[in-house]
Amino acid sequence: MNAAGAMDRYAVIGNPVEHSQSPFIHARFAAATGQALRYERLLAGRDDFAATVARFAAAGALGCNVTVPFKGEAFALAAQASERARRAGAANTLRFDAGGWFADNTDGVGLVRDIGRNAGVAIAGRRLLLVGAGGAAAGVLGALLEERPAALVLANRTPAKAQRLLEAHAALAAERGVVLRTAQLDDCGSGHDIVINATTSSLHAAAPPVAAAVLRPGTLALDLMYGPAARGFVAWASLHGALGRDGLGMLVEQAAEAFHLWRGVRPETRPVLDALRARLATEQPP
Ligand code: NAP
Repeated sequence: MNAAGAMDRYAVIGNPVEHSQSPFIHARFAAATGQALRYERLLAGRDDFAATVARFAAAGALGCNVTVPFKGEAFALAAQASERARRAGAANTLRFDAGGWFADNTDGVGLVRDIGRNAGVAIAGRRLLLVGAGGAAAGVLGALLEERPAALVLANRTPAKAQRLLEAHAALAAERGVVLRTAQLDDCGSGHDIVINATTSSLHAAAPPVAAAVLRPGTLALDLMYGPAARGFVAWASLHGALGRDGLGMLVEQAAEAFHLWRGVRPETRPVLDALRARLATEQPP
């Protein structure tokens, strides 16, 4: 609640945005932590993101989440940014500070917490395969390297994009003692401990972008996608003895980090993840 007695306002801004689960998640966080706030869904025109955010901030809102395709633009709009947002060159969270907007990227920490706490799988010392080199991969690569895996292979359909991502993270990988290399989708190693699909292949109902040889029994195979679209990847992983997981846990964890940035309170994530999983369980593929 602000000084004028009105509810503090936040939103998720994207295009498309109608299927975003963020309003549900943040309403649950607010109720559980006793925070009085309103969280909306705002559709921005493809060329209208900056103006949409400016109008929202001018109306007294305190911050927003940003989703496809605006994360790069959101980062560029901010006066200040966290190191993880700078490394990704993209922001999924803005806080409208009076002295200048602050940009953060909570996707990476969200993924790392989901893997470590929710899935119960350690990253340190393990062999990882990250498939994709778009905005999501850029957002999570730094956080994965911070966990000091033994090796991380980065594979993408367009190799030049993977190479650019590698170059932006080479110093961090060296600092953390991680062997970081790029590979082709059809030649990216076998028997990885953790395989992360950060492509949009599931969205297009395409087959997993890598061969089953990347898995071994017990591999954690995680698609950043969630809901019905991720079911094919999760089923493929299970078929090959891997532990299939979708991106719902990451979604809730990245939201909790944004909530903490805005409100200074860290909500419990497990009950919200359980509620969200139940809510999406009956959803049918489009
Ligand atoms: P993006 O920037 O558009 O990147 C798309 C990536 O997918 C690129 O690497 C692209 O390769 C690759 N790709 C697309 N179709 C492919 C196919 N058929 N085979 C192989 N590779 C293909 O998208 P993004 O923002 O990174 O999002 C990626 C995924 O992460 C989406 O599913 C999104 O929903 C999810 N995500 C989830 C969360 C969460 O909280 N769970 C957060 C962020 C993102 P090229 O470079 O060759 O085009």
